Amino acid sequence: MSSLRKFFVIGNWKMNVNKTRIDNIVKFMTAASLDPNTEAVVGCPSCYLSYARHHLPSEIGVAAQNCYKVPSGNFSGEISPAMIQDCGCEWVILGHPERRTIFNEPDELISEKVAHAQQAGMKVVACVCERKEDRDSNRTEEVLFRQMETLAASISDWSRVVVAFEALWASGTGILATPAQVQEVLAKLRYWLRHNVSQEVANATRIIYAGSVSSGNCQELAKLKDLDGFLVGSAALKPDIVDIINSRS
Ligand code: PGA
Repeated sequence: MSSLRKFFVIGNWKMNVNKTRIDNIVKFMTAASLDPNTEAVVGCPSCYLSYARHHLPSEIGVAAQNCYKVPSGNFSGEISPAMIQDCGCEWVILGHPERRTIFNEPDELISEKVAHAQQAGMKVVACVCERKEDRDSNRTEEVLFRQMETLAASISDWSRVVVAFEALWASGTGILATPAQVQEVLAKLRYWLRHNVSQEVANATRIIYAGSVSSGNCQELAKLKDLDGFLVGSAALKPDIVDIINSRS
């Protein structure tokens, strides 16, 4: 928690919306009063980027959930940062744990995507994740630091990056990470930034947490010293996202 870092909440809709569902989310997000001290963004499927951008108020950012590493070309099924910008959106989520684990995206590819997205002027939510087996074998630090190292090599402007830590073992599993567990990892990530990038970047970069964040646990987590917000999955589809955006109010 720092006044340097504006609280940041991104609700990632994943592949769980259609226009009717987006209309409903837009309705409860616009009807609510959202804390102006929180930067709120939604992660939207690529085919609905323009639709979401058009229907959401401009204070709420819209992010693509992925993009490719070049501006254009013969890459069927992919989208570029230029296309996302053409839909009026300025954010992209890269290295989401589902991209890493289900679609086998390696660190190097994620790093190339981050580099290109930054060159194109996009703001990036760059994810690092810890699996259950990493935690069980005491390899949390090694695994996260390796991901940070590859990511950092591709980042030219840290002021346009939010780092998201996802405890994969606590995402959709019913197991909740304790505040102490979350704080321990976030502090390690900030330590890594301090020692490998700079004190300034460590102080200014927002590090957010993902893994079954809900209206029930957000307030306690929001008090953590090194936590600057949340990446939210299932609760982003429900009015709970409003409580999460307002968890510091
Ligand atoms: P969850 O998803 O909040 O449903 O655990 C988080 C994520 O995978 O981004």
